[in-house]
Amino acid sequence: MNRQQIMEITARYNLAPNKKLGQNFLVGDNVVSRILELCRPFAGRVLEIGPGLGAVSRGLADMGTAYTAVEIDSGFVRYLSDLFAGNGKVRIVHADFLKVDLADEFDLAVSNLPYYCASEILFRLAADFSMPVIFGMVQREMAQRITACDGSENYGAMTVNLGYYFNTSECFVVPGDAFYPRPEVKSSFIKLERKQRYFTDVKSESLFHEVVKSAFWGRRKTILKSLADSPHMDLGRGMAGAILEQCGIDSSARGETLNLSAYIKLTEALIKNEK
Ligand code: SAM
Repeated sequence: MNRQQIMEITARYNLAPNKKLGQNFLVGDNVVSRILELCRPFAGRVLEIGPGLGAVSRGLADMGTAYTAVEIDSGFVRYLSDLFAGNGKVRIVHADFLKVDLADEFDLAVSNLPYYCASEILFRLAADFSMPVIFGMVQREMAQRITACDGSENYGAMTVNLGYYFNTSECFVVPGDAFYPRPEVKSSFIKLERKQRYFTDVKSESLFHEVVKSAFWGRRKTILKSLADSPHMDLGRGMAGAILEQCGIDSSARGETLNLSAYIKLTEALIKNEK
């Protein structure tokens, strides 16, 4: 799809790109082809979030055995319903993905993510669904945080909290002029491959996420101070010190030097001490 085609469709359907909904459309065939090639081996029942004007939708619908798209904008839903009229394997759902009640029945999720709620969408895909692979376009900075190595500059709560569910990797960087309207930032296309979740109950998982958020809220503070003073949980210095000692973690270490296993260990120690 090129700029001219986007203008024609938006004029015909009386639509205007809404900045607040993160509506930046992919233009040109290069990025679209790369996305489709990466998705092809995993296609089956495909979910797309935010199909917009369908830059990758037709390709995804063709390669999948079933294709579901969830789009918040009623104007785009009108356009997509016309585009796919009569195609029995396509389902267009008019909804906010963060609120929609959708069965967990997909093999692959793909999204050029609306940047205002990209992390919420990724965490919903992580926690409420079980598709083995997710591909997403995110801001470059977010991609760097998601895929960071332990101890590196970009390593943070998002790295650990998403790293709990997925092996993550950056596939390629996308310049601003691959979109219309052109965003001010660079983007990256990332791949998330699902792993086995360590905890089997929701309560332990939320505790794990709280521990991670706590460890990083006080960046450049010691892990003891971050956990003890965290606004995310009420541990106090005594309990924070005790669980660090039980896990053999130096209380003067920084949160960014601890890996995923250390955060799992800390959560387990906390669960044990709560019992
Ligand atoms: N897939 C298209 C493309 O690549 O050209 C459009 C991508 S655009 C970056 C993000 C799309 O997500 C828009 O179509 C926008 O309307 C939609 N969107 C924004 N918030 C959403 C939400 N909460 N649930 C579902 N779709 C949403």
